[in-house]
Amino acid sequence: VIDLGTPTRSVVTTCAYCGVGCSFRAEINGDQLVRMVPHKGGEANRGHSCVKGRFAYGYATHPDRILKPMIRERIEDPWREVSWEEALSFAAGRLRAAQEKHGPRSIGVITSSRCTNEETFLVQKLTRAVFGNNNTDTCARVCHSPTGYGLGQTFGTSAGTQDFDSVEHTDVVIVIGANPTDGHPVFGSRLKKRLRAGAKLIVIDPRRIDLVKSAHVAASHHLALRPGTNVAVVSALAHVIVTEGLADEAFIRERCDWDDYQHYVEFIRDPRHAPEATEALTGVPAAELRAAARLFATGGNGAIYYGLGVTEHSQGSTTVMGIANLAMLTGNIGRKGVGVNPLRGQNNVQGSCDMGSFPHELPGYRHVKNADVRAIFEAAWGVSIDPEPGLRIPNMLDAAVEGTFKGIYIQGEDILQSDPDTKHVAAGLAAMDCVVVHDLFLNETANYAHVFLPGSTFLEKDGTFTNAERRINRVRRVMTPLNGMADWEVTQALANAMGANWSYGHPSEIMAEIAATTPSFARVTYDLLEEKGSVQWPCNDAAPDGTPLMHVDGFVRGKGRFIVTEYVATDERTGPRFPLLLTTGRILSQYNVGAQTRRTENTAWHDEDVLEIHPHDAENRGLHDGDWVRLASRAGETTLRAQITDRVSPGVVYTTFHHPDTQANVVTTDYSDWATNCPEYKVTAVQVSASNGP
Ligand code: SF4
Repeated sequence: VIDLGTPTRSVVTTCAYCGVGCSFRAEINGDQLVRMVPHKGGEANRGHSCVKGRFAYGYATHPDRILKPMIRERIEDPWREVSWEEALSFAAGRLRAAQEKHGPRSIGVITSSRCTNEETFLVQKLTRAVFGNNNTDTCARVCHSPTGYGLGQTFGTSAGTQDFDSVEHTDVVIVIGANPTDGHPVFGSRLKKRLRAGAKLIVIDPRRIDLVKSAHVAASHHLALRPGTNVAVVSALAHVIVTEGLADEAFIRERCDWDDYQHYVEFIRDPRHAPEATEALTGVPAAELRAAARLFATGGNGAIYYGLGVTEHSQGSTTVMGIANLAMLTGNIGRKGVGVNPLRGQNNVQGSCDMGSFPHELPGYRHVKNADVRAIFEAAWGVSIDPEPGLRIPNMLDAAVEGTFKGIYIQGEDILQSDPDTKHVAAGLAAMDCVVVHDLFLNETANYAHVFLPGSTFLEKDGTFTNAERRINRVRRVMTPLNGMADWEVTQALANAMGANWSYGHPSEIMAEIAATTPSFARVTYDLLEEKGSVQWPCNDAAPDGTPLMHVDGFVRGKGRFIVTEYVATDERTGPRFPLLLTTGRILSQYNVGAQTRRTENTAWHDEDVLEIHPHDAENRGLHDGDWVRLASRAGETTLRAQITDRVSPGVVYTTFHHPDTQANVVTTDYSDWATNCPEYKVTAVQVSASNGP
């Protein structure tokens, strides 16, 4: 035990892990963080926290952190420590050389949902105003991009419709493709409290997650569907509601496009959507589906919470639209206790998307093809903006392999470990002339980098994060950046090294530019955040105090739009060689690929990824609990230990993806969502066999 002394001051800041966005008081002695204390004034957490936010901050001072910029001519060469000036000049020279040789659209950026709004805004500005193209994408591509598409199409904007407080007024909750107890623990606790008070729960998940049955909480229905059949299950629920006359037609007539609804009704009435017709496909008993549909339609205020088990599929966007249909069908939009709520995995997924990180959208979800919108930014930035949407992450990698995409700046994202089809990612990176990695550690992607720029942790940052309920929270600097430069300063210096003349002195000035160019942020200032603690967007002249509930009197797009959601089977099929379906998820103490949490005390709670396998499948393979197994798919293979459990159904296996030794994404395929290219992480046909270990 190290005695860190008695705290002499404290700073209120925001957790940098999940999208709940808990507030903490960082207690400090000198420049030494002594402890993180959950902040009672935090509106997202009200004094509660989980083991990640509370204890997993030791990575900030971990000896693995790289604190000096480094460069190398070729990726085979050893790294050479250089000054910030030399590193930035080297990066700028190589990126410009790539553009001169291969054209202005031959370089781009990938930013991270871990970064602040201000950092993200600057990175997309770097792309549009300095690189001169729209090749900007975010790690939200691989998690919630289908939310952006699906909710944009149906409601008019990509955002959760409610605040977390709303759950106190909910009577029936659907949790689909999410595991709040592990992934969003503080909200998970709040949800359990509401369930203990009598609200009913329907869980739609291939795995028996904790909420299905835990202390004093039991789901009324667990629809343990076969992975990849979300659309069929959601359509079956809607079929029952429509055919049994349970739809809220008064709400639909008043709030939704009636012609679209008529078209949808014609589609969903078809007997092929009936629970009895889909039972064999989904594996969910028809009687369970009918009972769940009746409960949701008649049980009072109904709210739907969903996660990556919805989005990371070849039909991720279709399922999001199906969920929106279900909410409109039952009149569950626009008041407390109802709504559609994507649970965002990372601290700033919402903000990263809001800030224009996608290659087709400027900040505030406005398309780059819209000349009026471009004109706002052209006037503010004094440049012309390319009207053509840029490349998404997978398209950048494809173009790199083809030889037309040559340089990339990657801020805060380990794409080699996080993205699907690791071999293809490596081939794309290896084919580029300039890979600039801006991160805390020499991650797997950095093996292919020519420039490494040291990043800073949330404890060293000033800025804002936006949580899953659109709440803009302040992040305040707790300690001086160990690397000497805040991340927004690095982006500014890179822009200036490439010929720009930016002169921001503080992130509050970046927020002023966001507010001046983005209507939903028009009234947001750091002074307002000091005064109120936090505020939920839209925050503008029409809503000066922010907006806890969206779509109250009308949808952002005007009338809500029902969209036909035809089920299309994934191309990933089981067969004799790969007879099982793998799906993945998280564990409470760890976070994503573990870059942060594995460098903290939380490793004591979870030090390896294991493969959950049903006793029936284990017996068929002669496996015992704890045995090493080989997990193989068409894409690749890895080795890990088996955990025999009936939490998964026969035919389904499950693992987490927190450890680089396991590299679960070596196994996942390159199939992706039809609308957004979000990878299909949640369905991979695999074989499991005995192994002697790694
Ligand atoms: Fe809160 Fe999520 Fe951080 Fe846990 S990880 S403290 S639930 S924001």
